[in-house]
Amino acid sequence: MKKLPDKTVERLSQYRRTLLIALGSGKHHIFSHELAAMLHITSVQVRRDIMLIGYSGTLRQGYDVKELIEIIGKIIDSKDGQKVAVIGIGNLGRAIIGYFSGKRTKLSIVAGFDVNPDKIDRVYAGVWCYNLDRLAEIIQKENISIAVLTVPAADATQIADQLILAGIKGILNFTPRPLNVPSNVYLEEYDMITSLEKLAYFVKKV
Ligand code: ATP
Repeated sequence: MKKLPDKTVERLSQYRRTLLIALGSGKHHIFSHELAAMLHITSVQVRRDIMLIGYSGTLRQGYDVKELIEIIGKIIDSKDGQKVAVIGIGNLGRAIIGYFSGKRTKLSIVAGFDVNPDKIDRVYAGVWCYNLDRLAEIIQKENISIAVLTVPAADATQIADQLILAGIKGILNFTPRPLNVPSNVYLEEYDMITSLEKLAYFVKKV
């Protein structure tokens, strides 16, 4: 199957979470307009996305919730799961590891890396923190394909280069430093400070 557009993948992930909640409350069928209302988007958008993954509901009952969850899983998850490393076990890195721990997902954080001797060779929410100088070795040994970058901004570019050399295929960049990656590496930037300042601008009184 051809790669889906970015935004469609984001929405599929949101649909699945919404469908799981619906299923948890005993709902077995759902209409596109219900899913749309829960996510504040249009039902045309929902139908278009679901059609793109080759699924359709019935006019009378809408989508089968369980079936749709399974199909979305087949499309967006990798069969054997994917391994993630967190680079920089500061406040943000630890929070991400803690948040993820115990979540049932096809993604698992299997390693942390840091340069601070107080943090190295310790376990954070079940995740071992390695010395950064073992980055390439552990990434290759553990077959880690995704890295979450939570180091200070000044170190981001240099660490990203090391990650790419080590064979990482996806980087989630939490630092405010924009990165350049080759076309075979997928980059997702999440600059929390910019998001918050943007919100603050729109919320502030004139
Ligand atoms: P803490 O107070 O626990 O150090 P912090 O959130 O204030 O946390 P930051 O200065 O934001 O820490 O740094 C984030 C983490 O990145 C720290 O654990 C730091 O030791 C680590 N770090 C700094 N430089 C590097 C680097 N080059 N490679 C990997 N980790 C690094």
